[in-house]
Amino acid sequence: MAFALTEPMAGSDPSSMVMKFEDRGNHFLLNGKKHWIGNGTCAKVMTTYAKEAGGSHHGKISAFIVDGDSDGISTEEMRNKLGLLTIKNAEIYFDNCVVPKRNLLGLKGQGLNIAYSALIDGRLSVAAGTVGVMTDCLEESVSYSKAREQHGSPLAKKQLIQEHLARIAVNTESSRWLVYRAALARQNLHDYVEQLKTEDHQWQSKLNRNNKHYYLLRSDADNLSTIAKFHASNSAFDSANRSVQIFGSYGYRKSKRVARHFLDSRAITIYEGTNEVLELKMASKILGDNYKAY
Ligand SMILES: Cc1cc2nc3c(=O)[nH]c(=O)nc-3n(C[C@H](O)[C@H](O)[C@H](O)COP(=O)(O)OP(=O)(O)OC[C@H]3O[C@@H](n4cnc5c(N)ncnc54)[C@H](O)[C@@H]3O)c2cc1C
Repeated sequence: MAFALTEPMAGSDPSSMVMKFEDRGNHFLLNGKKHWIGNGTCAKVMTTYAKEAGGSHHGKISAFIVDGDSDGISTEEMRNKLGLLTIKNAEIYFDNCVVPKRNLLGLKGQGLNIAYSALIDGRLSVAAGTVGVMTDCLEESVSYSKAREQHGSPLAKKQLIQEHLARIAVNTESSRWLVYRAALARQNLHDYVEQLKTEDHQWQSKLNRNNKHYYLLRSDADNLSTIAKFHASNSAFDSANRSVQIFGSYGYRKSKRVARHFLDSRAITIYEGTNEVLELKMASKILGDNYKAY
């Protein structure tokens, strides 16, 4: 699967996207380009986003589920990435791509809201993944620093190496608990929506700002997954950096796990919302929408 939101001219600000769709009565027609899309070359199905050209929701963004092998879709792998080599990122071209009417996700015009709700889960899963990265950095660094001797004793006996190990442990545990906290908030949101589904067959129309309970639960899950992703991604990069330092020149090789963590974790501060934009988002949660700086 793939999540295809970003465009060459619309990264941090997806509302400026230029990809268009037309409502042709019994189907939609998509035209435009997305880039950096993970799994883009192999996705059997993707969610993508486009603005309506003309029509009742002119200029508003809608979300679509698109089969990867639809006519009018072509992809090109983006090469020369620094890391994350197990995932293929791609440019995806939509050239008069026909999408069946039933593949509109949610209602017309709800696209950005849908993308932002997907990002709650995206940030949470990214943050959770970093805990694995940091756990591995710590394990690798502990065993290497015990085995490698310089100045007559193992590196693990040097206080400055111990400082690196302690900091990686703090990074790991603080991120782990922020992930649990965000996951709990996300679970509470999930439980509420499930309850609504059983009680009210018009539940979909209740998932908006007017429903205070839903709005608070969503806002909590959104904010806590943002905090978790921000802290965990910075912590993962810091931990991988410290691990490479502990390994010295032996860590400066792509064949080493710590070097791969260093290159992979660099991307995490960029995707699922850059950490700068997440800082602005956290600040606007504290200060209120009137102080929104993005
Ligand atoms: C490895 C990787 C995988 C990705 N996978 C996907 C994917 O699967 N699907 C998808 O849709 N996208 C994906 N992306 C794209 C990613 O979401 C975007 O790169 C990201 O949103 C940033 O957009 P941009 O690169 O255009 O940077 P820009 O938006 O041009 O930002 C450049 C810099 O300016 C800063 N900046 C921007 N606006 C502000 C502001 N208002 N105030 C302060 N600073 C600001 C940013 O924080 C950043 O540091 C991926 C990217 C990478 C690197």
